[in-house]
Amino acid sequence: MPCDACLETPGETGITAQTILTGRPRMTPDDSFTFRCGADLDCFGQCCRDVTIVLTPYDVLRLKRGLRMDSSEFLEKHTLTPRMAGQKFPIAILRMKDEDKQCPFLCEQGCGVYGDRPWACRMYPLGAAEPKTPTPEDRPFHFILREDLCHGHGQSAPVTVREWITRQGAEEFEMMNGGYKDLTLHDFWDGEKELTEQQAGMFYMACYDLDRFRRFVFETRFLQLFEVDEARVEAMRTDDRELLEFAMQWLRFALFGEKTMRPRRNGK
Ligand code: SF4
Ligand code: SF4
Repeated sequence: MPCDACLETPGETGITAQTILTGRPRMTPDDSFTFRCGADLDCFGQCCRDVTIVLTPYDVLRLKRGLRMDSSEFLEKHTLTPRMAGQKFPIAILRMKDEDKQCPFLCEQGCGVYGDRPWACRMYPLGAAEPKTPTPEDRPFHFILREDLCHGHGQSAPVTVREWITRQGAEEFEMMNGGYKDLTLHDFWDGEKELTEQQAGMFYMACYDLDRFRRFVFETRFLQLFEVDEARVEAMRTDDRELLEFAMQWLRFALFGEKTMRPRRNGK
């Protein structure tokens, strides 16, 4: 995939990586737009219905922590893992309620998980695209999503892309998703290569099911097989962020054969 734009576009239908790369005005951090979202708008909450919200690993981490749920329980209850033609690795999406297709976190006041809402919800109406191999002419960029149901466009003073990202608290998400982005843009995915069922399961666990990944690290022979700095081991016992970074490192070793882990010589 030349661009991960299709993974980073909340809501809008009929959008593909190709239409984004060729048809959307590309915005730099200093470009501005006008948009406001609020309970006084007649569209309030409309964007949280029947929508595909792709979750990043850090989105899942924040949501499961905010909801005080185990990652396996969160994934089971609140996500789906659709398999689409040509898809190379598992992706989790937010599961809308069966009865009314509404996001399970939407409440009368708005988003019930506002402080931990996913990256895509924070960024809306901005999407982001990243060329696989950025060049000075072809750099990562943002673009505006427009949907008829959303009446927030043109409703504010101009705000720059940079200001929007800061206001929405999206910087931390972008930083924490850096390892995942590098993983998903890796050359490994080019061509016909496919993950085995076991590799796909491993990818899913390490990216999304962090509490299970923790048990995998601490309750198997894992630490007898790999040398991991002691301070890091201790941090990973309780720190989900540290564990997620380690999980990305481990996937690069396990899937791509990179030297991101140090196997112990005697496996002890
Ligand atoms: S997580 Fe919040 S902002 Fe995102 S779709 Fe659900 S209710 Fe809307
Ligand atoms: S302005 Fe757009 S993002 Fe805000 S509530 Fe309305 S539809 Fe949703």
